[in-house]
Amino acid sequence: MDPHAKHTDLLVFHLTGKRRGGALQPIDGRDLRPALLAPLRDLDALRHDFPLVLVDRRRGADCVHTLSGLVDGVLRDVAPRGIDGERLRRHGLQLEREIRAAVAAGAEGSLTDLWDAAAARLGEREGETLEQVLRHAGGALRADGAVLGCTPATPARLVRHTWQTVQREKARQFHADVGMLVQQLSDILRAAFSHSQAGRRPQSLQAALGGPHQDLFDFDALSRVVGKSSPDDELPASRRERLVRTLGVLESQRFFAPPEQQATLWTGGTRSETFGFEFDNCAAAALAFRERLPEAAELVRALAVAELESRGGYIEAEHDLFFEAFDENSLGADDLARLPDYLVCIPPERSDAPENASLIEMLSSGLPVKVLVQTADLRDEAALGSGHFAFGVRSARLATTAMGLGGVFVLQSPAANLYAVRAQIDCGLASRGPALFSVYAGATRRGDPWPPYLSTAAALPSRAFPAFSYDALGGSNWAERFSLLNCPQPEADWPLETLEFVDAAQQRVRAPCAFTFADFALCDPRNSAHFALAPREQWDDAMLPAADWLALSEQDAARRVPYVWAVDASDALHRVVVDAGLMQSARRCLLLWHRLQEHAGIHDSHAERLLAREKAAWAAAAPPAAAPEPAPQPAAAEAAAEAPAHSRDEAWIETARCPSCDECQHINPRMFAYDERKQAYIKDITAGTYRQLVEAAESCQVAIIHPGKPRDPDEPGLEDLLARAESFR
Ligand code: SF4
Repeated sequence: MDPHAKHTDLLVFHLTGKRRGGALQPIDGRDLRPALLAPLRDLDALRHDFPLVLVDRRRGADCVHTLSGLVDGVLRDVAPRGIDGERLRRHGLQLEREIRAAVAAGAEGSLTDLWDAAAARLGEREGETLEQVLRHAGGALRADGAVLGCTPATPARLVRHTWQTVQREKARQFHADVGMLVQQLSDILRAAFSHSQAGRRPQSLQAALGGPHQDLFDFDALSRVVGKSSPDDELPASRRERLVRTLGVLESQRFFAPPEQQATLWTGGTRSETFGFEFDNCAAAALAFRERLPEAAELVRALAVAELESRGGYIEAEHDLFFEAFDENSLGADDLARLPDYLVCIPPERSDAPENASLIEMLSSGLPVKVLVQTADLRDEAALGSGHFAFGVRSARLATTAMGLGGVFVLQSPAANLYAVRAQIDCGLASRGPALFSVYAGATRRGDPWPPYLSTAAALPSRAFPAFSYDALGGSNWAERFSLLNCPQPEADWPLETLEFVDAAQQRVRAPCAFTFADFALCDPRNSAHFALAPREQWDDAMLPAADWLALSEQDAARRVPYVWAVDASDALHRVVVDAGLMQSARRCLLLWHRLQEHAGIHDSHAERLLAREKAAWAAAAPPAAAPEPAPQPAAAEAAAEAPAHSRDEAWIETARCPSCDECQHINPRMFAYDERKQAYIKDITAGTYRQLVEAAESCQVAIIHPGKPRDPDEPGLEDLLARAESFR
């Protein structure tokens, strides 16, 4: 076949999304998946973070464990060293697989229930003794609680569970504080009563003494003796009234249920006397907050008065005026932090509903609210018209906007990654101000071959939904507040893995392979129109892996065709061509990723520019060598004499000064190369962009790369690049 026609077919599909002739094949129904995900075909057989166990009565990050971690703990405790232990370990892992498969099929329950059920099933298959051994081993489980697979409902259950542990701790602290204050205020009243005439009447003295010895005393006589000089009431009326009123408020507050009833507090307020704090929309939470403000102010005032009274520090002349004026407008963040936080778990399909339109306003107003926003689908197609994408833009915009509000804790993570970021979830829920948790929860769609765990897990390395946290109160600068959580290879555009395959000559090959946004998009069958299978005879040198294609300038990329490596159901390797619409989304995804990198201090453009300037200044100001130069040898002198003068417009390297640090080679190994002395020179100026020249100049440790002037006047971003290049020309 004519190679030109072959390439044209590829290019036409890439540019138009239309398959010309019959050479390129549609991918529908071929069960293709990114080649790097081939080992994950049987997910239930692999040990990974899910299922999770929501452990009861534990605090913080310890309230959630992985099934694998708990099984490992049991096996460490009960499996002896040697062959017997090995057999038990094997059966333990078999049981773990059984539970994982049951949960994937929809089983629910506590870990101990699912453990026993799995042991019974294995016993049926392999003998009663095995069941008994596994049940016995189950007794060594270090924790129990609800078992949770990775489903679209998981983020809400996990966040709610962690929130409950935080609120329980808050309630414990509140009751400890209030219990002590009530005791102290009651003691003041009791002491005043016992010193008063009423307290020294015979009946009062008899009641105060109590116990079995009452018959030994003549309380009438005692009353006459001790009651002679007693005052009517040693407490001034205003103080008595204040103490009684304060005690009344503390004992009737509706924010925290009594300790013995706390289980009913957190489920939406089934007890009419206790407020519920869990909502499924912002409007309802904001309304409840507003309606409760007067009571909140009354409770905070009572706490403050009680604290002053308990240490004898209440001065009427000073404090009366202040507390009379104390109302809901006086409440500060520290006051609200003593009360329960509001939890809003917005169902994925209601994110854009009118009742949640006030989300940003609610976060910016500093309400003590923790909001979970779940994204079921990162595919916002049609926002820009047919064939265009806006993958993940809404969720990215939401998190970025929330970070810009100031004072808001923000966490973004795919659902599959939630166990890894459990400490940050706890931190956000325990933070003093508002918090936003933006989670890509995935969806269960008919005919979707991907379980939510895999589809959300793939969003992390592909940069489609990176994990990060922003703790507004965590420090005074971005370095302290912002963190790219466990995004793989955060310094790279795309994480590079090793792809192992058998080539056409039946040889095992290991090759680097990047996992890109295009690979992530290939996982969703709804995107099949944006891909076409290129049979081996169609492959040519103009095809480039998507990551390499994205590294080119737009002009250079226009002549190449991007593809991703994919495998079919029998693990045969294919090249799948990607159309321009989807690659445009990949570029946008990369742009958003670069912004996050900068927030995390990776490839910070300001810092890099400053560094380049400093390097250049340092090189220019470097003192001449202390020792006198040896007289040039004839050949060297000749070479120096012949060394051409370089104009500012020419790109060149001071090769003789190159200490071979490799930086420029990493940027573009086709443009930069080493000579026979392993010193760098520009091998092919046409093999890269002006941007790469400038980046190499900035990276060069001895500032010996001179980028000259751009060859292509249409290269994007030239104005900025020329400014950066100025110090090196
Ligand atoms: S970056 Fe500079 S020092 Fe490093 S290899 Fe290239 S030219 Fe040499």
